[in-house]
Amino acid sequence: MENRKIYDFHTHVKNLETIEKYYESNVIPVINCQNADEFNRISAMFEKIKDNRDFDEVIPFLSIGIHPQDSWKYKNDIGNIYEEIIKQVPLVGEVGMDGCWCDVSFDVQEKVFRKSLELAQKYNKAVILHTKSMEKRIYDIIKDYDLDFIVHWYSCKDYIKEFIEKGCYFTIGPAVLIDDNVRDLVKRAPIDRLLLETDGIEALEWLFEKNYRPEDIRPSLQAVCEEISLLRNMSEDEILQNLQKNSERLLKI
Ligand SMILES: [Zn+2]
Repeated sequence: MENRKIYDFHTHVKNLETIEKYYESNVIPVINCQNADEFNRISAMFEKIKDNRDFDEVIPFLSIGIHPQDSWKYKNDIGNIYEEIIKQVPLVGEVGMDGCWCDVSFDVQEKVFRKSLELAQKYNKAVILHTKSMEKRIYDIIKDYDLDFIVHWYSCKDYIKEFIEKGCYFTIGPAVLIDDNVRDLVKRAPIDRLLLETDGIEALEWLFEKNYRPEDIRPSLQAVCEEISLLRNMSEDEILQNLQKNSERLLKI
């Protein structure tokens, strides 16, 4: 467990130091970008790592997606630059809808979400979904698309069966330690559909109301693995092996 490669399949990073810590601790980040500026900033950080540091293998795994909270900016036109970036990355996301923390009208959110799905379909990219409080509506939208879907931080007691039957993957984060809905999902989802996530340092700080450093990322993911292994009655090593395989399948490694 100590040395095995772990994928943090959904995270956000702000600085180079955090990306370096990821690779130093043998955690591979799949970094979410919410717009072209952020994509360019993060890509430039990877160029620096390649120039300055001597890690074995540093491949940037980035996703790009218009978050529901930004959807109002794109309601008339999502712009060519979004499509150009989608061509270069393995994943579209996080995209979806939010009925809890976001006050953009649902019609605008849905319109922009559907445009992202069309681009994902056009370039055959897997999609990371943000479903907060909009689980049923999202399910009704995605059920007609033939794509790989990764449902991020699913915390709803309903529709688990529907998302599983649709073939979705699920990123599981430290909320599994405290949230019964997440624990229920871990027990029910096929083992070949589970992935790990932190959702970034800020999400960890929000969840546990304390400060986190980049070096806390690996122990946080290991704690999630331990919990999954207890819930599934499998060894931690077996769980890690499966999660690594699932991650690499989606990233086409
Ligand atoms: Zn996120």
